[in-house]
Amino acid sequence: MEDKIVIKKSRALGPSIIPLLDKKTIKEPIDKDPIEVTIPNKEKLVNFKSFLVRPHTKVSKKVTVKDLPVLIEAAQILYNLCYTQIEWINGSYAMHHSQIEERKPLNFFVTADMKIVINPVIINHTKVPVERVEGCVSFPFNAPIKVKRFNKIEVKYKTLEAGGTMSKIIEEGLSGVDAQIWQHECQHGEGKFIYEIEDQGRDVA
Ligand SMILES: [Zn+2]
Repeated sequence: MEDKIVIKKSRALGPSIIPLLDKKTIKEPIDKDPIEVTIPNKEKLVNFKSFLVRPHTKVSKKVTVKDLPVLIEAAQILYNLCYTQIEWINGSYAMHHSQIEERKPLNFFVTADMKIVINPVIINHTKVPVERVEGCVSFPFNAPIKVKRFNKIEVKYKTLEAGGTMSKIIEEGLSGVDAQIWQHECQHGEGKFIYEIEDQGRDVA
């Protein structure tokens, strides 16, 4: 028995908390309003936690225009993961693509306030780092630890514009928690973590 639900077009645009559905279940072309989708049964709703991969040291590739279809699909998973309870971690400020992709990670991250940050670079920072406490969803069984972070940074990046195109380079200054999130996510892009990886000899399936 299948339940039909109708999702209004405006809610289906961009990353959303509506669970991702198999493309085959979309009954109408997406330019029609409203979109009709079929949810086979509630047990088959997406378990976003299952997209997480084990920590790996692969450096993420710079995003180009041809990566955008992959980015758009992955961005929805990453956004939903920001709102998923993972062991003791009660949601995240941001999630990097390398946390759900171990073979071809792309250098972008998605924040809990729906920002898609593409090819992030920290171009400047204050001189003396301060101590902050962090955890990481890629290490859900590790307790939070103290890390050194710069309180103010200057960054450049691109983002996704309406219509699914890549923006021009944006430069801005960040401080406090925003600066902290950026430093954590940029580390992910470099294949580095706040914790040591214990099983680096593991074969990637
Ligand atoms: Zn992390």
